[in-house]
Amino acid sequence: MTVTYVHPFDEGSMDQKDLLGGKGANLAEMTRLGLPVPPGFTITTDACRWYMSHGDTPPELAEQVASALAQVEAGLGRRFGDPENPLLVSVRSGAAVSMPGMMETVLNVGLNDETVQGLAARSGSERFALDSYRRLLQMFGRTVEEIDGERFEEVLDELKERRGAASDLELDAQDLAEAVARFQRIFVEQTGEPFPQDPREQLRRSIRAVFDSWNAPRAVVYRNTERIRHDLGTAVNVCSMVFGNLDDRSATGVCFTRDPATGQAGVYGDFLVNAQGEDVVAGIRNTRSLPELAEVLPDCYAQLEQVMETLETHYRDLCDIEFTIESGTLWMLQTRVGKRTAAAAFRIATTLVDEGVIDEEEALRRVGGDQLSRLMFPHFAEGSGAQPITKGLNASPGAAVGQVAFDSETVTALARDHVATILVRRETNPDDLAGMLAAAGVLTSRGGKTSHAAVVARGLGKTCVCGAETLEVDEKAKEIRMGGDVIAREGDIISIDGTSGEVFLGEVPVEPSEVVQYLEGDLAPDDPAASDLVRSVHRLMGTADSLRTLQVRANADTAEDASRARRMGAQGIGLARTEHMFLGERRVLVENLILSADQEQRQEALDELLEVQRGDFVALLEAMGSLPTTIRLLDPPLHEFLPDITELSVKVARREATGKKRSKRDVTLLGAVRRLHEQNPMLGLRGVRLGLTIPGLYGMQTRAILEAEAQVRRAGGTPHVEIMVPLVSSIRELWEIEREIRAVRDEVSAEQGVDLPCRIGTMIELPRAALRADEIAEVAEFFSFGTNDLTQTTWGFSRDDVEAGFFFTYKDRGILLTSPFESLDQYGVGELVRIGAERGRGTRPDLKLGVCGEHGGDPDSIHFFHHVGLDYVSCSPFRVPVARFEAGRAKL
Ligand code: PEP
Ligand code: MG
Repeated sequence: MTVTYVHPFDEGSMDQKDLLGGKGANLAEMTRLGLPVPPGFTITTDACRWYMSHGDTPPELAEQVASALAQVEAGLGRRFGDPENPLLVSVRSGAAVSMPGMMETVLNVGLNDETVQGLAARSGSERFALDSYRRLLQMFGRTVEEIDGERFEEVLDELKERRGAASDLELDAQDLAEAVARFQRIFVEQTGEPFPQDPREQLRRSIRAVFDSWNAPRAVVYRNTERIRHDLGTAVNVCSMVFGNLDDRSATGVCFTRDPATGQAGVYGDFLVNAQGEDVVAGIRNTRSLPELAEVLPDCYAQLEQVMETLETHYRDLCDIEFTIESGTLWMLQTRVGKRTAAAAFRIATTLVDEGVIDEEEALRRVGGDQLSRLMFPHFAEGSGAQPITKGLNASPGAAVGQVAFDSETVTALARDHVATILVRRETNPDDLAGMLAAAGVLTSRGGKTSHAAVVARGLGKTCVCGAETLEVDEKAKEIRMGGDVIAREGDIISIDGTSGEVFLGEVPVEPSEVVQYLEGDLAPDDPAASDLVRSVHRLMGTADSLRTLQVRANADTAEDASRARRMGAQGIGLARTEHMFLGERRVLVENLILSADQEQRQEALDELLEVQRGDFVALLEAMGSLPTTIRLLDPPLHEFLPDITELSVKVARREATGKKRSKRDVTLLGAVRRLHEQNPMLGLRGVRLGLTIPGLYGMQTRAILEAEAQVRRAGGTPHVEIMVPLVSSIRELWEIEREIRAVRDEVSAEQGVDLPCRIGTMIELPRAALRADEIAEVAEFFSFGTNDLTQTTWGFSRDDVEAGFFFTYKDRGILLTSPFESLDQYGVGELVRIGAERGRGTRPDLKLGVCGEHGGDPDSIHFFHHVGLDYVSCSPFRVPVARFEAGRAKL
């Protein structure tokens, strides 16, 4: 059976993104809708996957491409390679998931020394034909032959200088003929071969280059950040060329059916007269805003408006569009559901509901928790008095403060030391991606809102100001000048406001987001001061809350955190880590416990700890009212409370060497530290093992919790206490601890004369516990999956070291897409969660199940926990709104 690797545009639809890629599927859809799409065909992602696994294209591809090309030739009455009337094509990448600017494109394929003359004759412009040819040489050289693009730029710069020209447009046919000749010489010098004159060979090589660009370093980095699988591959779109650079009635542009920054209906976009698409996106020439097209080419503008309406109605969403006008005829080169800022996503979704285009559930489907979390970033304080030095375009919202850095390497090096930077460039290109990712914000002096910097920054949720034209960015001298004066050098602090486009020297104070004020209950949605955005968030959050069955709790250790979590909508505390109550000056109390020489000293230390713990628990329970509050008994390795072994050894040795009197406490402490020293403390004396080896420790903690509960009850409260045992792997461990807890509960209940109905449960954070969950559930009344430790022990990755170590290599090589500590490894660790849940509920059908690892606040993981049947997720207070939102979306 022969596989069909090539589909003409009139054979597909928008539902075939996996096979045809996003661009191919949408070109097919536009063709179906009768919109003016230049004829062409798509080579499927299957072909790319075949290429990646075999290192060559599928054997049937050449023939299928030839016959699809023949169809295009027949339709247009033009032949590929015809010296009189040549057909030219573009060869563009197009993956199933949009990866803007990450892969390659070759335009004007089909031009050679002969066909260039045919093109000149047909277009009536020698200059145009030569300009198209030099572009092909340049793009083919860079993309297919990997010749350094600077080599070509140098030639153009030289020609421009000779002519005193500011832009390429001022070069005439003679200059361009020289450029073509010199580019051809560069080819021979760099590759040892002349530029291929056979159009079919050009096409064959361009297709392979697009396949290869799937694995270009910047594409790999982008997929890692966006968590896109590396084995998907890209489709290739071969499309007959239409020319935006034919004459002054030609243009090329990018537009949106709504404002992608605010969601307001209206026309929005940039265009350039007499240019090819790459000129707009690269930000090389400053673009004109779309409404001006109505003056320049009114018929085309009217037709474009109609196309935009057709597309928005059809896709029921904001679309972005690439178009070209060739001598007064409009052509659609691409459309897709447009990238947008987080704020616009919310506004557009609710606006479309109001317009009756979609329903509330569809609206919720279209916005994600990640977008909500972007809205929770702070912005610059109003009334700070800071004066902007200039204003660029507000390309991607947010407030960013950082040191000026001019290149990706500096930004990434500083990011490793947690130094915030603003990447400042004349314009960015796809190779700046790593720097854009690591920077706090991006500032460019050239380019419109659809320039590379703007599009990529919006996609990443990164603050960006672009096209700040009064700034002269000198990347070589590493300085920013204005009117000839140096205003900032590398390392100086600047602040940029992506919402207003303003740029400030120095640090401007930032203030919390309005959405956070709303989420914390400080701003009512019907308050006249609340913006549309707040109302949109409120509506969609309401939809999410009404749909979701998964509850959301918070990880909170203090009354303050607990109150904040409640304001954010937490329905309980899923994890109060008691170790945080032993830090700071209280450390000495734990030292006392460890150093106690006899029963009396130990009891004294325990009594002191009891006292401080009780107070903490009273405050926590009061803050939580009658919401469930899960308090975990002490978990971390003991050494975390003791001085560092090396520092203490040095201190003792130094005293001895200088003849000072030995500190008895230091010497005893050193003995204890040595005794307790472990090679692998995370696998050592921690969790339930502490409770079993340090007599009285868990008993004391239980007493503190229950005495606090009794106190709050006597004061009229109705606390809901759950005591949780960490790092259990065997039922035998839990038996012992449960017996101790119950004994203390009976004692405290009798002493205080109050009924104490607390539940006893355990964390499931070791593979053995998940596998033996049926047994463990005989004792435990609830499970909370500790997916941090469960990930650590399932993968055998140290959670403390791994992110700084070989993960970089693992990500680069595509072994891991994302850290399993950030987003749950659903196939491995997730399988243990599934087994633990099923086996636990097999024993105890009403077993309460939750998760309290970091994954409790991660959107993808939350969907998984919902589907596996957990009752709640628990995450940090600030993630609670995101978790509520995603728990609702998981029901869709
Ligand atoms: C866990 O392991 O997932 C957990 C919540 O416990 P901790 O992070 O405190 O080890
Ligand atoms: Mg743990």
